[in-house]
Amino acid sequence: MEMKLFCETATKIPVFQYDFGDKGPEILIIGGVHGDEPEGIVAARGVLQKAVQDFRFALKLCLIPEFNVEGILNKVRGNSRGVDLNRNLPTKDWSPKAATPRYHPGPEACSEPENQALVQLLKSRNFKFIVSLHSWNPMLNVNGNCQPEVDILHQLTGYAIEPDIGYPTPGSLGTYAGKELEIPTLTYEVQRELEFGEINRVHVPALWQMLAACEKR
Ligand SMILES: [Zn+2]
Repeated sequence: MEMKLFCETATKIPVFQYDFGDKGPEILIIGGVHGDEPEGIVAARGVLQKAVQDFRFALKLCLIPEFNVEGILNKVRGNSRGVDLNRNLPTKDWSPKAATPRYHPGPEACSEPENQALVQLLKSRNFKFIVSLHSWNPMLNVNGNCQPEVDILHQLTGYAIEPDIGYPTPGSLGTYAGKELEIPTLTYEVQRELEFGEINRVHVPALWQMLAACEKR
């Protein structure tokens, strides 16, 4: 395992990335894009723990469990500048208009250091599949071909597979990576307020099984 500095936030807080494996397809897992969704962070940390203890997949796994560390520390959706990092990526449909302040997309596309580092990472590596761990209504929101990974997750969690969440998400990772860069991207919405123990019992093992299927990417 190699631990690296992924980026430094506007308030100089470090965000770390953890890389595992030296062969096979490159897979990216991100947690904590929204700081007020601890369920996704618990899932990402659970995968990190398992990987630290016993990583034996033919994969190059890159894990960023606490992407929006400022939001996590402040227990809010956005970063310290109040920007929703999942509305700030430089998609073709990015717009400075927000539906509500909660979805503030930032002063310009990719204005935030977290997303600048993410765009750099996506350009410098050859990811075949991306998972971003959030919490909301339980669902597996897919952009691009995320089979067979979501079949495994559906089987193990009962979560529905949704190609469309019903409204546009300019500046989101699903739109940027999944649609525009054509890297299959799964936005995994763990059920909001699900007990942390349950996340470790059900969702972390499900993600682990999913990783085995990623070897074929
Ligand atoms: Zn979210």
